[in-house]
Amino acid sequence: MDCLFCKIIEGSIPSQKVYEDDAVYAFRDINPMAPVHVLLVPKTHIPSMDGVTAENSAAVARIFEAIPKAAAAEGLTNGYRVISNCGDDACQTVKHLHFHLLGGRKLPDRMA
Ligand code: AMP
Ligand code: ZN
Repeated sequence: MDCLFCKIIEGSIPSQKVYEDDAVYAFRDINPMAPVHVLLVPKTHIPSMDGVTAENSAAVARIFEAIPKAAAAEGLTNGYRVISNCGDDACQTVKHLHFHLLGGRKLPDRMA
């Protein structure tokens, strides 16, 4: 499958790993929007939030377990923001479900 994040997970495209376990891979965004900008992805290919089902939602739960670990590892003691863009209106560019972890400064109070 021609998926950028699947290639990053398997290691054929390099990335800066922040956290990894059997279900989750987390790495630095190549175009950071904040001092800390990490992407967390399930190791199984799910195209977007629209692809989450009762059968695969455990992978999403594992991401939410990983988020506080990645945030702590990145020193985000004063809070952070988690975003997942789904589909064209949200400008999703990579069609493998991912969660942006943003922090390291006061973020804009308007989300969109
Ligand atoms: P989205 O727009 O929500 O689909 O987010 C995709 C994110 O992937 C963007 O923030 C990009 O900067 C990031 N990105 C694209 N290619 C790479 C890469 N090779 N390594 C790390 N991050 C990437
Ligand atoms: Zn993928």
